[in-house]
Amino acid sequence: MSNRLVKLDSWVSYLSWPPLACPECGEGTVSLDKNSLMTIRDPASDELVMLIDAGLEGLGELTGTCSGKLTCNNPQCGRTLLVSGDWSHDVNVDDHNGRETWIDYIRVRYISPPLPIFTPHASTPAKVTSAIHAAAELLWINPSAAANQLRQAIEELLTVKGIKRTYINGSHKRKTYPAHARIEMFGSANPANAEVAETLMAVKWIGNSGSHGSDLTVAEVLEGAELLQHALTELYDPTNSLRRARIKEINRKKRIPRSKN
Ligand SMILES: [Zn+2]
Repeated sequence: MSNRLVKLDSWVSYLSWPPLACPECGEGTVSLDKNSLMTIRDPASDELVMLIDAGLEGLGELTGTCSGKLTCNNPQCGRTLLVSGDWSHDVNVDDHNGRETWIDYIRVRYISPPLPIFTPHASTPAKVTSAIHAAAELLWINPSAAANQLRQAIEELLTVKGIKRTYINGSHKRKTYPAHARIEMFGSANPANAEVAETLMAVKWIGNSGSHGSDLTVAEVLEGAELLQHALTELYDPTNSLRRARIKEINRKKRIPRSKN
């Protein structure tokens, strides 16, 4: 997967922090400011520290929670984000010289403002974009809820595309179409929609596994987001259709068309 956020789906330190695009300027990258970390030990670690201080135990791993700052390296920006998560103080072994040092590790649970999962093309409908933004906010604390927001983005997209949300059943009651049926309606409305509908269906299945008991991982949600991004690019980024039109034009003229000076 190309999304660098997936590298935060495990324990990381300031040494292994991946380069992540700054949500403010988009040019710099944000990384963990090692001096900013505020840590809270859990009771077991408090007890261990007491034993170590009394000389009754050797050094051992400490665990708890932490919060800190991510800072953008672009001097024109310098944006600071809040990060918090699970904390571990453990041994790091240097890959090159084998030297052991004790450092802080974080398992990210929250970043504010959130790092975007992806940035949809500017002409993407606002309700679709805001559901994707909500998914980015939830990603670390509750991946399954984030996947549900991606499914919500699909529902909003289908509404914009004119696919009905509800129908009146035989007992004159208003019922909601399931996402599955709406995606099928979208796919059969126009042959050109078929591939996008197939992609949306895959995103929907990922969201389903999140809401039916089995918890999704951050990596699984990011895979769903990547597919949704692909579908939105097909629908809203004109670059693809312009390129296809250009290819047709060159082939028709059997040369590269030149503008007159
Ligand atoms: Zn920045």
